[in-house]
Amino acid sequence: MDLKAALRERAYSLGFELFGVAAATPAETRAAYEEWLAAGYAGEMAYLGRDPARRADPRRAWPDTAAILVVGLNYRPVEEESQARSDPTRGRFARYALGDDYHEVLATRLRALLATARELGGPEVEGRVYVDTGPLLERDLAARAGLGWFGKNTMLLNRRYGSYFFLGALLLNVPLTPDGPVSAHCGTCTRCLNACPTGAFVAPYVLDARRCISYLTIELKGPIPRPLRPLVGNWVFGCDICQEVCPWNRKAPPGDEPAFSARQGLPAPELVALLALTPEAFRERFRRSPVKRARRRGLLRNVCVALGNSGDRAVVPHLARALHDEEALVRGHAAWALGRLGGEEAAVVLHAALATEEDPWVREEIEAAWRETQQNVVRAT
Ligand code: SF4
Repeated sequence: MDLKAALRERAYSLGFELFGVAAATPAETRAAYEEWLAAGYAGEMAYLGRDPARRADPRRAWPDTAAILVVGLNYRPVEEESQARSDPTRGRFARYALGDDYHEVLATRLRALLATARELGGPEVEGRVYVDTGPLLERDLAARAGLGWFGKNTMLLNRRYGSYFFLGALLLNVPLTPDGPVSAHCGTCTRCLNACPTGAFVAPYVLDARRCISYLTIELKGPIPRPLRPLVGNWVFGCDICQEVCPWNRKAPPGDEPAFSARQGLPAPELVALLALTPEAFRERFRRSPVKRARRRGLLRNVCVALGNSGDRAVVPHLARALHDEEALVRGHAAWALGRLGGEEAAVVLHAALATEEDPWVREEIEAAWRETQQNVVRAT
Protein backbone atom coordinates (compact mmCIF):
# COMPACT_ATOMS: atom_id res chain seq x y z
CA MET A 1 0.00 0.00 0.00
CA ASP A 2 1.38 3.44 -0.86
CA LEU A 3 1.75 6.17 1.72
CA LYS A 4 -1.37 8.07 0.65
CA ALA A 5 -3.58 4.97 0.81
CA ALA A 6 -2.14 4.06 4.22
CA LEU A 7 -2.77 7.56 5.53
CA ARG A 8 -6.32 7.52 4.20
CA GLU A 9 -6.96 4.26 6.03
CA ARG A 10 -5.41 5.63 9.21
CA ALA A 11 -7.50 8.82 8.94
CA TYR A 12 -10.68 6.75 8.74
CA SER A 13 -9.58 4.62 11.68
CA LEU A 14 -8.99 7.82 13.67
CA GLY A 15 -12.65 8.67 13.07
CA PHE A 16 -12.39 11.20 10.25
CA GLU A 17 -15.18 10.64 7.77
CA LEU A 18 -13.55 12.66 5.00
CA PHE A 19 -10.03 12.58 3.62
CA GLY A 20 -8.36 14.05 0.56
CA VAL A 21 -5.08 15.45 -0.66
CA ALA A 22 -4.59 18.93 -2.10
CA ALA A 23 -1.59 20.09 -4.08
CA ALA A 24 0.65 22.62 -2.33
CA THR A 25 -0.24 25.38 -4.76
CA PRO A 26 -1.78 28.81 -4.09
CA ALA A 27 -5.53 29.02 -3.49
CA GLU A 28 -7.64 29.46 -6.59
CA THR A 29 -10.15 31.50 -4.59
CA ARG A 30 -7.61 34.14 -3.54
CA ALA A 31 -8.93 36.88 -5.88
CA ALA A 32 -12.52 36.33 -4.75
CA TYR A 33 -11.40 36.32 -1.13
CA GLU A 34 -9.55 39.60 -1.52
CA GLU A 35 -12.56 41.15 -3.27
CA TRP A 36 -14.70 40.01 -0.36
CA LEU A 37 -12.32 41.62 2.12
CA ALA A 38 -12.14 44.84 0.07
CA ALA A 39 -15.93 45.08 0.08
CA GLY A 40 -15.81 45.19 3.89
CA TYR A 41 -17.86 42.00 4.24
CA ALA A 42 -15.52 40.66 6.94
CA GLY A 43 -16.73 43.34 9.35
CA GLU A 44 -14.58 43.52 12.47
CA MET A 45 -12.75 40.26 11.74
CA ALA A 46 -9.53 42.11 10.95
CA TYR A 47 -7.48 38.94 11.42
CA LEU A 48 -8.94 37.59 8.17
CA GLY A 49 -7.28 40.42 6.24
CA ARG A 50 -3.83 39.94 7.75
CA ASP A 51 -1.25 38.81 5.21
CA PRO A 52 -3.64 37.47 2.52
CA ALA A 53 -0.71 36.28 0.36
CA ARG A 54 0.44 33.98 3.14
CA ARG A 55 -3.09 32.79 3.78
CA ALA A 56 -3.58 31.88 0.13
CA ASP A 57 -0.31 30.01 -0.33
CA PRO A 58 0.40 27.00 1.89
CA ARG A 59 4.09 27.18 1.03
CA ARG A 60 4.25 30.60 2.61
CA ALA A 61 2.60 29.20 5.70
CA TRP A 62 5.30 26.48 5.77
CA PRO A 63 7.94 26.52 2.99
CA ASP A 64 8.56 22.73 3.09
CA THR A 65 4.95 21.90 2.19
CA ALA A 66 4.82 19.31 -0.59
CA ALA A 67 1.28 17.97 -0.06
CA ILE A 68 -1.70 18.80 2.12
CA LEU A 69 -3.93 16.21 3.74
CA VAL A 70 -7.38 17.63 4.39
CA VAL A 71 -9.77 15.83 6.72
CA GLY A 72 -13.39 16.30 7.75
CA LEU A 73 -15.04 15.24 11.01
CA ASN A 74 -18.82 15.01 11.18
CA TYR A 75 -20.36 16.91 14.11
CA ARG A 76 -24.03 16.60 13.35
CA PRO A 77 -25.65 15.86 16.73
CA VAL A 78 -27.92 12.87 17.26
CA GLU A 79 -30.47 14.95 19.14
CA GLU A 80 -31.99 17.94 17.45
CA GLU A 81 -33.17 20.97 19.43
CA SER A 82 -36.77 21.01 18.24
CA GLN A 83 -37.86 22.48 21.59
CA ALA A 84 -35.94 25.72 21.01
CA ARG A 85 -37.34 26.06 17.53
CA SER A 86 -40.88 26.24 18.78
CA ASP A 87 -40.32 27.96 22.13
CA PRO A 88 -38.98 31.53 21.84
CA THR A 89 -38.15 31.63 25.56
CA ARG A 90 -35.40 29.07 24.95
CA GLY A 91 -32.10 29.85 23.28
CA ARG A 92 -30.65 28.28 20.19
CA PHE A 93 -26.98 27.40 19.74
CA ALA A 94 -25.34 26.49 16.44
CA ARG A 95 -24.87 22.75 16.30
CA TYR A 96 -21.10 22.97 16.19
CA ALA A 97 -21.12 24.63 19.62
CA LEU A 98 -23.22 22.11 21.54
CA GLY A 99 -20.29 20.00 22.70
CA ASP A 100 -16.59 20.46 23.32
CA ASP A 101 -14.36 22.79 21.35
CA TYR A 102 -13.35 21.01 18.15
CA HIS A 103 -9.84 22.45 17.80
CA GLU A 104 -8.14 20.10 20.23
CA VAL A 105 -10.20 17.07 19.16
CA LEU A 106 -9.11 17.49 15.53
CA ALA A 107 -5.54 18.56 16.32
CA THR A 108 -4.96 15.47 18.49
CA ARG A 109 -6.07 13.18 15.68
CA LEU A 110 -4.05 15.07 13.08
CA ARG A 111 -0.97 14.70 15.27
CA ALA A 112 -1.66 10.95 15.35
CA LEU A 113 -1.89 11.01 11.55
CA LEU A 114 1.46 12.79 11.37
CA ALA A 115 2.97 10.14 13.66
CA THR A 116 1.75 7.45 11.24
CA ALA A 117 3.25 9.37 8.29
CA ARG A 118 6.59 9.41 10.09
CA GLU A 119 6.38 5.73 11.01
CA LEU A 120 5.68 4.78 7.42
CA GLY A 121 7.74 7.39 5.59
CA GLY A 122 10.73 7.69 7.91
CA PRO A 123 11.97 10.31 10.36
CA GLU A 124 12.67 12.80 7.57
CA VAL A 125 8.90 13.18 7.16
CA GLU A 126 7.73 16.34 8.86
CA GLY A 127 4.41 18.10 9.05
CA ARG A 128 2.37 20.96 10.43
CA VAL A 129 -1.13 20.64 11.86
CA TYR A 130 -3.76 23.31 11.11
CA VAL A 131 -7.21 23.51 12.63
CA ASP A 132 -8.43 27.05 12.15
CA THR A 133 -5.26 28.05 13.93
CA GLY A 134 -3.11 29.27 11.12
CA PRO A 135 -3.35 31.45 8.07
CA LEU A 136 -4.81 28.94 5.61
CA LEU A 137 -7.89 29.00 3.38
CA GLU A 138 -9.05 25.61 4.64
CA ARG A 139 -12.28 25.47 2.66
CA ASP A 140 -10.39 26.17 -0.53
CA LEU A 141 -7.96 23.35 0.27
CA ALA A 142 -10.84 21.03 1.13
CA ALA A 143 -12.59 21.77 -2.16
CA ARG A 144 -9.38 21.14 -4.08
CA ALA A 145 -8.88 17.88 -2.16
CA GLY A 146 -12.33 16.71 -3.29
CA LEU A 147 -14.06 16.81 0.12
CA GLY A 148 -16.95 18.76 -1.33
CA TRP A 149 -18.05 21.78 -3.31
CA PHE A 150 -18.74 25.37 -2.31
CA GLY A 151 -22.48 25.74 -1.74
CA LYS A 152 -24.29 28.98 -2.44
CA ASN A 153 -24.34 29.45 1.34
CA THR A 154 -20.48 29.48 1.20
CA MET A 155 -20.27 26.24 3.22
CA LEU A 156 -18.44 23.23 1.88
CA LEU A 157 -20.98 20.56 0.93
CA ASN A 158 -20.46 16.85 0.70
CA ARG A 159 -22.97 14.54 -0.96
CA ARG A 160 -23.04 12.16 1.99
CA TYR A 161 -22.32 14.37 4.99
CA GLY A 162 -23.90 17.66 3.96
CA SER A 163 -22.10 20.56 5.60
CA TYR A 164 -22.03 19.69 9.30
CA PHE A 165 -18.36 18.75 9.50
CA PHE A 166 -15.17 20.33 10.83
CA LEU A 167 -12.11 20.71 8.66
CA GLY A 168 -8.48 20.22 9.52
CA ALA A 169 -5.28 20.10 7.49
CA LEU A 170 -1.91 18.40 7.78
CA LEU A 171 0.89 19.92 5.72
CA LEU A 172 3.53 17.34 4.82
CA ASN A 173 6.99 17.69 3.30
CA VAL A 174 6.52 14.58 1.13
CA PRO A 175 4.74 14.73 -2.23
CA LEU A 176 1.46 12.77 -2.54
CA THR A 177 -0.84 12.53 -5.54
CA PRO A 178 -3.51 15.22 -5.17
CA ASP A 179 -7.20 14.38 -5.46
CA GLY A 180 -9.33 16.33 -7.86
CA PRO A 181 -12.23 18.62 -7.01
CA VAL A 182 -15.79 17.24 -7.15
CA SER A 183 -18.55 18.78 -9.24
CA ALA A 184 -21.05 21.17 -7.62
CA HIS A 185 -24.61 20.04 -6.93
CA CYS A 186 -26.53 23.15 -5.91
CA GLY A 187 -28.22 23.36 -9.28
CA THR A 188 -31.05 25.88 -9.35
CA CYS A 189 -31.69 25.64 -5.60
CA THR A 190 -31.68 28.95 -3.68
CA ARG A 191 -33.17 27.82 -0.37
CA CYS A 192 -30.31 29.06 1.79
CA LEU A 193 -30.29 32.49 0.14
CA ASN A 194 -34.02 32.90 0.68
CA ALA A 195 -34.08 31.55 4.23
CA CYS A 196 -31.51 33.90 5.79
CA PRO A 197 -33.55 36.19 8.08
CA THR A 198 -31.05 39.03 7.94
CA GLY A 199 -30.49 38.91 4.17
CA ALA A 200 -26.78 38.26 4.68
CA PHE A 201 -26.22 36.79 1.21
CA VAL A 202 -25.57 39.64 -1.19
CA ALA A 203 -25.34 37.10 -4.01
CA PRO A 204 -24.93 33.34 -4.32
CA TYR A 205 -21.57 32.39 -2.76
CA VAL A 206 -21.12 35.87 -1.24
CA LEU A 207 -21.86 36.41 2.46
CA ASP A 208 -21.85 39.83 4.06
CA ALA A 209 -20.66 38.66 7.47
CA ARG A 210 -21.79 41.95 9.02
CA ARG A 211 -25.40 40.79 8.64
CA CYS A 212 -24.79 37.11 9.44
CA ILE A 213 -26.26 35.95 12.77
CA SER A 214 -23.13 33.85 13.45
CA TYR A 215 -20.99 36.95 13.14
CA LEU A 216 -23.38 39.13 15.13
CA THR A 217 -23.62 36.67 18.03
CA ILE A 218 -19.99 35.48 18.14
CA GLU A 219 -17.46 37.65 16.36
CA LEU A 220 -18.96 41.08 16.93
CA LYS A 221 -17.70 42.33 20.26
CA GLY A 222 -19.77 45.51 20.63
CA PRO A 223 -23.49 46.23 20.33
CA ILE A 224 -25.57 44.41 17.73
CA PRO A 225 -26.93 47.04 15.31
CA ARG A 226 -30.48 47.90 16.39
CA PRO A 227 -32.20 47.20 13.04
CA LEU A 228 -30.78 43.65 13.04
CA ARG A 229 -31.75 42.72 16.61
CA PRO A 230 -35.36 41.74 15.85
CA LEU A 231 -34.12 39.48 13.03
CA VAL A 232 -31.82 37.43 15.27
CA GLY A 233 -34.78 35.59 16.82
CA ASN A 234 -33.70 33.27 19.64
CA TRP A 235 -30.22 32.42 18.32
CA VAL A 236 -27.79 33.11 21.15
CA PHE A 237 -24.59 31.63 19.74
CA GLY A 238 -24.19 31.16 16.01
CA CYS A 239 -26.88 30.15 13.55
CA ASP A 240 -27.56 27.13 11.33
CA ILE A 241 -30.47 28.37 9.23
CA CYS A 242 -28.66 28.31 5.87
CA GLN A 243 -27.53 24.76 6.65
CA GLU A 244 -30.84 23.54 8.08
CA VAL A 245 -32.69 24.34 4.88
CA CYS A 246 -30.08 22.74 2.65
CA PRO A 247 -31.40 19.53 1.09
CA TRP A 248 -27.94 17.96 1.37
CA ASN A 249 -28.20 18.08 5.15
CA ARG A 250 -31.56 16.37 5.27
CA LYS A 251 -30.25 12.84 5.10
CA ALA A 252 -26.77 13.40 6.47
CA PRO A 253 -25.99 10.88 9.24
CA PRO A 254 -25.23 12.05 12.80
CA GLY A 255 -21.63 12.02 13.96
CA ASP A 256 -20.42 9.55 16.59
CA GLU A 257 -17.78 11.64 18.37
CA PRO A 258 -18.87 11.81 22.03
CA ALA A 259 -16.98 15.11 22.53
CA PHE A 260 -19.44 16.81 20.19
CA SER A 261 -22.65 15.54 21.75
CA ALA A 262 -24.76 18.21 23.42
CA ARG A 263 -23.69 19.19 26.91
CA GLN A 264 -26.15 18.93 29.74
CA GLY A 265 -28.58 21.84 29.59
CA LEU A 266 -28.08 22.30 25.87
CA PRO A 267 -29.37 22.35 23.18
CA ALA A 268 -32.39 24.36 24.31
CA PRO A 269 -31.71 26.15 27.61
CA GLU A 270 -34.17 28.60 29.10
CA LEU A 271 -33.07 32.12 28.26
CA VAL A 272 -33.72 33.42 31.77
CA ALA A 273 -31.39 30.75 33.18
CA LEU A 274 -28.63 31.89 30.81
CA LEU A 275 -29.25 35.50 31.79
CA ALA A 276 -28.63 34.58 35.43
CA LEU A 277 -25.12 33.22 34.75
CA THR A 278 -22.51 34.85 36.96
CA PRO A 279 -18.95 35.16 35.57
CA GLU A 280 -17.94 32.07 37.57
CA ALA A 281 -20.96 30.07 36.44
CA PHE A 282 -20.31 31.04 32.82
CA ARG A 283 -16.70 29.89 33.07
CA GLU A 284 -17.72 26.63 34.66
CA ARG A 285 -20.57 25.88 32.27
CA PHE A 286 -18.68 26.66 29.07
CA ARG A 287 -15.22 25.38 29.95
CA ARG A 288 -13.68 23.76 26.82
CA SER A 289 -16.73 24.88 24.82
CA PRO A 290 -16.67 27.08 21.69
CA VAL A 291 -19.20 29.30 23.50
CA LYS A 292 -16.47 30.81 25.65
CA ARG A 293 -15.33 32.72 22.54
CA ALA A 294 -18.31 35.06 22.97
CA ARG A 295 -17.40 35.62 26.63
CA ARG A 296 -20.10 36.07 29.21
CA ARG A 297 -20.89 39.62 28.13
CA GLY A 298 -21.33 38.57 24.47
CA LEU A 299 -23.55 35.62 25.33
CA LEU A 300 -25.72 37.64 27.72
CA ARG A 301 -25.97 40.44 25.14
CA ASN A 302 -27.41 37.84 22.75
CA VAL A 303 -29.68 36.41 25.44
CA CYS A 304 -31.13 39.88 26.05
CA VAL A 305 -31.85 40.28 22.34
CA ALA A 306 -33.52 36.85 22.25
CA LEU A 307 -35.63 37.73 25.31
CA GLY A 308 -36.67 40.96 23.61
CA ASN A 309 -37.77 38.89 20.64
CA SER A 310 -39.62 36.35 22.80
CA GLY A 311 -42.80 38.43 23.11
CA ASP A 312 -43.13 37.15 26.67
CA ARG A 313 -43.58 39.96 29.21
CA ALA A 314 -43.16 37.47 32.06
CA VAL A 315 -39.40 37.88 31.53
CA VAL A 316 -39.44 41.61 32.37
CA PRO A 317 -38.26 41.12 36.03
CA HIS A 318 -35.24 39.14 34.75
CA LEU A 319 -34.36 41.88 32.26
CA ALA A 320 -34.87 44.47 34.99
CA ARG A 321 -32.13 42.74 36.99
CA ALA A 322 -29.89 42.65 33.90
CA LEU A 323 -30.29 46.43 33.66
CA HIS A 324 -27.86 46.50 36.59
CA ASP A 325 -25.38 43.93 35.23
CA GLU A 326 -21.70 44.75 35.68
CA GLU A 327 -21.26 44.83 31.87
CA ALA A 328 -22.49 47.90 29.98
CA LEU A 329 -23.02 45.74 26.88
CA VAL A 330 -25.53 43.60 28.78
CA ARG A 331 -27.29 46.57 30.39
CA GLY A 332 -27.74 48.29 27.02
CA HIS A 333 -29.23 45.22 25.35
CA ALA A 334 -31.43 44.51 28.36
CA ALA A 335 -32.82 48.01 27.93
CA TRP A 336 -33.51 47.37 24.25
CA ALA A 337 -35.28 44.12 25.10
CA LEU A 338 -37.49 45.87 27.64
CA GLY A 339 -38.39 48.51 25.07
CA ARG A 340 -39.27 45.85 22.54
CA LEU A 341 -41.44 43.94 25.00
CA GLY A 342 -43.10 47.16 26.13
CA GLY A 343 -45.73 47.50 28.85
CA GLU A 344 -45.98 49.53 32.02
CA GLU A 345 -43.64 47.40 34.10
CA ALA A 346 -40.88 47.73 31.48
CA ALA A 347 -41.41 51.50 31.29
CA VAL A 348 -41.12 51.84 35.07
CA VAL A 349 -37.85 49.88 35.38
CA LEU A 350 -36.34 51.74 32.42
CA HIS A 351 -37.24 55.09 33.92
CA ALA A 352 -35.78 54.06 37.27
CA ALA A 353 -32.52 52.87 35.68
CA LEU A 354 -31.92 56.31 34.21
CA ALA A 355 -31.50 57.65 37.72
CA THR A 356 -28.36 55.56 38.32
CA GLU A 357 -26.92 54.68 34.88
CA GLU A 358 -23.73 56.57 34.07
CA ASP A 359 -22.53 54.98 30.84
CA PRO A 360 -23.46 57.31 27.93
CA TRP A 361 -24.19 54.48 25.45
CA VAL A 362 -26.35 52.58 27.94
CA ARG A 363 -28.24 55.77 28.77
CA GLU A 364 -28.90 56.25 25.07
CA GLU A 365 -30.26 52.68 24.86
CA ILE A 366 -32.43 53.18 27.93
CA GLU A 367 -33.84 56.46 26.61
CA ALA A 368 -34.61 54.93 23.20
CA ALA A 369 -36.21 51.90 24.88
CA TRP A 370 -38.26 54.08 27.23
CA ARG A 371 -39.52 56.16 24.26
CA GLU A 372 -40.47 52.87 22.60
CA THR A 373 -42.60 51.89 25.60
CA GLN A 374 -44.30 55.30 25.52
CA GLN A 375 -45.09 54.93 21.83
CA ASN A 376 -46.56 51.52 22.59
CA VAL A 377 -48.73 53.13 25.26
CA VAL A 378 -49.90 55.81 22.81
CA ARG A 379 -50.59 53.17 20.16
CA ALA A 380 -52.50 51.09 22.70
CA THR A 381 -54.79 53.97 23.78
S1 SF4 B 1 -29.58 25.25 0.16
FE1 SF4 B 1 -29.46 24.80 -2.05
S2 SF4 B 1 -28.25 26.49 -2.92
FE2 SF4 B 1 -27.93 26.53 -0.70
S3 SF4 B 1 -26.05 25.35 -0.38
FE3 SF4 B 1 -27.78 23.90 -0.16
S4 SF4 B 1 -28.09 23.03 -2.21
FE4 SF4 B 1 -26.78 24.85 -2.46
